[in-house]
Formats: sequence, structure tokens, C-alpha cells
Amino acid sequence: MKMYDVTTPIFEGMPVYKNKPEKQPKLMTVTNDYVTESRIDMDLHTGTHIDAPLHMVKNGETFETIPLEKLVGACKLFDLTHVTDKISKEDLMELDIQQNDFILFKTKNSLEEAFHFEFIYVAEDAAKYLAEKQIRGVGIDALGIERSQPGHPTHKTLFGHGIIVIEGLRLKDVPSGEYWMVAAPLKLVGTDAAPARVLLFEQ
Ligand SMILES: [Zn+2]
Repeated sequence: MKMYDVTTPIFEGMPVYKNKPEKQPKLMTVTNDYVTESRIDMDLHTGTHIDAPLHMVKNGETFETIPLEKLVGACKLFDLTHVTDKISKEDLMELDIQQNDFILFKTKNSLEEAFHFEFIYVAEDAAKYLAEKQIRGVGIDALGIERSQPGHPTHKTLFGHGIIVIEGLRLKDVPSGEYWMVAAPLKLVGTDAAPARVLLFEQ
């Protein structure tokens, strides 16, 4: 069974949101003769991660409220590398999106290593369409699922409908199709996000 690791590698100097220094992971390694121990100081939205509603909703639900059952299962990957600027409702209407689907969007973002300020994102009308479709979750190969939308309506629409949001996927090598997804976040409690290892298995 072919497996794709669609997780961003974590290291100092990795691509981070808007190239902000505070988003860079900091590794501190202590070593004596033979014992080595490292600490990591990292924003929870660095690299591949899953957002919790608290990220964009005041007093929203925290990470442990997302059941693992919703993060492991079938998913559909759509190739939207032809899309420019943003994913709109129009881009989604001809796609086979059904209730309870977990969908992943492969865009131009996957074809570039460096952070791109004009990254492809999910527009508000597309988020509303996904909410109407009652999907289970959505993943994208951008470090944010939206940009340049005042008030963050995409996040709020998705969270408001219990739709899980995965950001920072790396999908360059994965063809469109159906996969079995294992998205395994750190078991953090009380947080607005958690880094995750995300694996796709060919069905
Ligand atoms: Zn995030």
C-alpha cells in the first residue's frame, strides 16, 4: 500500500507564515558526554497543524474537543493547481463533494517551497458552500486557510459548522483521488491548534 507523508518538515529556517521570526521553531539542545536532550519552542500554527475553533472564535472550543475519529478515515484530494488567487465556490461546484467528506485541496502552494504572501486560500463563498455540503473537514497546502478577508469569515464559517481545518499540508507529489487519511495531532489540551503528522494511504 503506497503511503504519502504530506507533513511539512520542522526545522529552524523552515517556511513560516508571513516569514515572521516568532513563527520559527527554536530548538535548544543540551548535551554532555553522551546524553542529549532538546527542547522546542514553536508556534502551534507552524508547519502542518489542525486548528481548533478557539483560534478564531472568542471562547471557542479547544483542541481536545476534536475527536480523533474525525481525523482518521477516507478523504478526497482535489487538484486545484489551475486556480489563481483564491478557491471560490465556482471552483468547487463541479467537484464530487458529499456530506461527511474530508476534502483536501492541492493548489499552486504545494509547488513552491518558500512562503508566498499571495498564497491560494479558500474564499468565503467557497467556505459557505462547504458548510452547506456538511463536509467533515477540509485541508489545504497553505499555512492559512484564508487571507485578506477582514473578520476571517472562512475560518468562522467552517468552525461554525463543526468543520475541521488542516493547514500547512505538502501535496506536490500526491495525485488527485481518494485516500485513507491518518491525521494524528499532538494530544494537546486547552489549545487553539496542534501540530500534526498527516499520512495518506492509497485505497
Ligand atoms: Zn492555523
